[in-house]
Amino acid sequence: MAWFLDGKKDRAHRLGPMQTLPGPMRKFTPTETVDYCIVGVGSAGGVLLQRLARAGFNVVGLEAGPFWDTERDWVSDEKGSHELYWNDLRITGGTHPLALGSNNSGKGVGGGSVHWAAFTPRLHPSDFRIYSEDGVGADWPMYYQDLKPYYELLEREIPVAGPAWFPWGDPHGHPYGPHPLGGVGDVLVKGCTKLGIRTVAGGPVGILSASHGDRPHCIYRGFCLQGCKVGAKASTLITHVPDAITHGAEIRSLSMATRISLRKDGRVDGVLYIDRDGKECFQRARAVIVAGYAIETPRLLLNSACPGFERGLANSSGTVGKYLMAQAGNVVAGRFDGLIRLYKAPPAHALSEEFYETDKSRDFARGFAIQTVGPLPIAFAKQMVAAMGAWGWGLRRVMMDYNHWATLGVLGEILPWKDNSVELAEEKDQYGLRVAKVTFNLHDNDKKLIEFAKNKVMDVMRAAGAEQVVQESRFAHLVGAARMGSNPATSVVDKFGRAHDIPNLFVCDGSILPTQGSANPGLTIQALAARTADYLIKHGEEIFTTSNRDQSEPGIRYDLSPPYTWFKGNPHIG
Ligand SMILES: Cc1cc2nc3c(=O)[nH]c(=O)nc-3n(C[C@H](O)[C@H](O)[C@H](O)COP(=O)(O)OP(=O)(O)OC[C@H]3O[C@@H](n4cnc5c(N)ncnc54)[C@H](O)[C@@H]3O)c2cc1C
Ligand code: SF4
Repeated sequence: MAWFLDGKKDRAHRLGPMQTLPGPMRKFTPTETVDYCIVGVGSAGGVLLQRLARAGFNVVGLEAGPFWDTERDWVSDEKGSHELYWNDLRITGGTHPLALGSNNSGKGVGGGSVHWAAFTPRLHPSDFRIYSEDGVGADWPMYYQDLKPYYELLEREIPVAGPAWFPWGDPHGHPYGPHPLGGVGDVLVKGCTKLGIRTVAGGPVGILSASHGDRPHCIYRGFCLQGCKVGAKASTLITHVPDAITHGAEIRSLSMATRISLRKDGRVDGVLYIDRDGKECFQRARAVIVAGYAIETPRLLLNSACPGFERGLANSSGTVGKYLMAQAGNVVAGRFDGLIRLYKAPPAHALSEEFYETDKSRDFARGFAIQTVGPLPIAFAKQMVAAMGAWGWGLRRVMMDYNHWATLGVLGEILPWKDNSVELAEEKDQYGLRVAKVTFNLHDNDKKLIEFAKNKVMDVMRAAGAEQVVQESRFAHLVGAARMGSNPATSVVDKFGRAHDIPNLFVCDGSILPTQGSANPGLTIQALAARTADYLIKHGEEIFTTSNRDQSEPGIRYDLSPPYTWFKGNPHIG
């Protein structure tokens, strides 16, 4: 596993068979102070690392998991790919406890983008204003228009395949053409069309519908959540990390950050971590960026409590760990007489956002999307245990019919509530650190939304011709817990991810989202990371030496994209 960054074997870097890097990765000496130390090289961390390295900063990424070699480490096998997930101890509770493990963060370079399905819809303009428009949740400290150029940029860097016209939110097209429909997509389109619900097919998804640079196109074998050995599915491991290394970034894999260190003058000066040999090390840095996911980011801040910040670093507001969100992710399964073959396409390839916005005729605020999902047999069996109580011979009987079942997912907006939280449990992990205790409760609006959405998707399934329809209640995509805002009393960071309390500490990952909409969060997280990077680059030395907080947009740097991505693909519409 993860052989090529093993110091004994420094040679040309390979990220699987298709990406060979020209030389060995840069190694900073243990006493060197770098400009930026980034904790977590996942969806956001990978993009940040690449941008900052290209702009000439000295940057180190600490990553708790391994540096994957896609060819040797990844397998087209559902059980064999379990190591991609963050499976360390976490405690879960509340009225609706979240399933953790494979249901949330990845562990390893690329983070959650390694096992994501790669659905890449944008948030809608209304998502940034739900308090003003609907009287619920919170407004973002920025507008959709501020993020729009970064959506367009990342859609090319990933790149995203999808329909030429996406009609919801801010209508737009996609750089690569749509994928063909699989059996599940067919069901979604058929059922929705019968009920007069508009759909799009073939994306938007970060999977290549045609070859791109050194990456081949999708071959439709359905192992997207297992990492995609083929390289057709985007992850920051293959889209941004190679360029980061080429431009002088160092990634220290198997390195678990344990604490951020604060100086007496109120600025951070580096990160303590346990290295791959179990040794405690300290990486000095002029600024620190935490990009560890919506659970590990607040956990690290809370574990970094120190004199002056007894409740957790950068937590004068008391909001570190609060307002955690997950989307409603109910899965509706339908059995059809004919063959569907769930596995025979990327899980993510058709959707409808017809019910995304608040509709005053319903008794709840905000809405949901309907999406294809494609569980492989183990995941499907678990769903059938939950949905039907199938067990023993009954479960075997259902599994014999695996190829006759289709699954559609609700992706519903659950609002940010203060009592949904990440705190520290008394239990400790293998590093001796207190683990995260995650509490999740559904509130009235959430329950009404889920009930409506679930029934609507069951109607779609029946309209498509399913002879039996069942559903499993579940949740997906954790974000929030270190939210951004203009008011330091109610948020952790400002609109560029800069901690209100500490001028050279940044948070940049899904944890800064104030609300989540009904769009999968990955594209938004990567777009925010590129914007934060532009802000840091624009302000250069100031970040390290002053507390100035210029809140104007930094101006987009198209010249920092990985090669062959910008100005590629179809002309943009909208
Ligand atoms: C099954 C599944 C399917 C999904 N499908 C989609 C989809 O189709 N579309 C979509 O948009 N989203 C999808 N997601 C969600 C998406 O993967 C995440 O929202 C996204 O990756 C989160 O990005 P992040 O940067 O916040 O964290 P991550 O990408 O999880 O990165 C965090 C990184 O930090 C590292 N880390 C954490 N703590 C430390 C520490 N103390 N020291 C060192 N390193 C640390 C972790 O190992 C990890 O690599 C899916 C998620 C799952 C579980
Ligand atoms: S279906 Fe396509 S994107 Fe998914 S694993 Fe297979 S080749 Fe990769």
